Amino acid sequence: MRIERLQLCHVRMPYVRPFETSLGRETSKDCILVRAWADGLTGWGESPVTAAPFYMEETVETAWPILVGFLAPRVLGRTFAHPDEVGEWLRPIRRNHLAKAGLEAAAWDIYAQSQGLPLARVLGGTRPRVAVGMSVGIEPTIDATLDRIDEWLTRGYQRIKVKIKAGLDVGLIRAIRDRFGAIPLQADANAAYTLADAPRLMLLDAFDLVMLEQPLDYDDLADHAVLSRSLRTPICLDESIHSAADARKALDLGACRIINVKAARMGGLGEARRCHALCLDRGSPAWCGGLLETGIGRAANIALASLAGFTLPADLGASGRYFHEDIIDPQVAVNADGTVDVPAGPGLGFTVVERLVDKYAVRRETLRAPAGVSGESL
Ligand code: MG
Repeated sequence: MRIERLQLCHVRMPYVRPFETSLGRETSKDCILVRAWADGLTGWGESPVTAAPFYMEETVETAWPILVGFLAPRVLGRTFAHPDEVGEWLRPIRRNHLAKAGLEAAAWDIYAQSQGLPLARVLGGTRPRVAVGMSVGIEPTIDATLDRIDEWLTRGYQRIKVKIKAGLDVGLIRAIRDRFGAIPLQADANAAYTLADAPRLMLLDAFDLVMLEQPLDYDDLADHAVLSRSLRTPICLDESIHSAADARKALDLGACRIINVKAARMGGLGEARRCHALCLDRGSPAWCGGLLETGIGRAANIALASLAGFTLPADLGASGRYFHEDIIDPQVAVNADGTVDVPAGPGLGFTVVERLVDKYAVRRETLRAPAGVSGESL
């Protein structure tokens, strides 16, 4: 594929409900959509950057100039035989993973369309549907959290993840167990604790959580390895894992037993696929997390989650859980058995609703291959 043109679009979509974690509270989704044109096809990707740098360093305002000034010029006018080459071609630019991920995902969409295959298939996915769980944010009260959980269980979601932080942990988990019994339950701290909190976190062992996600610092492996030795509950790492190599080191150190794979956090679907292969090879459980993506990013996550080594339910909700109107057609729906169908159509398998992209667009910029750039191959 020769990438001829790119369009960046900053969209801002209000959430149905605010989403709160130990990192803060968000009321709307800001991100950058990347549209690419190549060989007469159009592909879409999402850079799920946020308005503020709390989950990762990148924001809309930092990713935009990186895309315009560094990432786009590296791929425009260039011919790639496979999307993995796009990832490789962007690798010399350090980090900026969320920015890279949108561009790389658009290339995967185009590649899958060019093969006449669903994105899931070209990624190596085999499942016709994927099991999904719901991530429940921090609510004003424990009772409100319990009501939310009741709603998601009624809708069929296969497991519940709750956000915890200091002062809202053991009591919350106990209340959930008291009301809902032995449901598949996991907790995510988004790096809210330190090793000094180990005695507190050990109290969670009494509740048979499927996992405790990212209890310690966002860039840490060493302290997690220490904590892991004191906990019966498996630790899962999210924020600390930016590549398949990070996952290998974390597993080797005993920093975690489970990996939360988010393609965007790792810089793209190609690296996520390598991380999946590592986990499969090690027999380590892995699952697909999410970053409250719009339908475009969600569609790619569904495709990724169809790979066989993702043995735990994905954080993949129905479109209506997040947005009044998602920007894809059809909307993502969750079946009564807590699964999401993997689309069978070529590429993302969903149609991007441009009218809605226009409605939520805050800013756009179109970038073209400069004259004189050859279509040379890698
Ligand atoms: Mg997490």
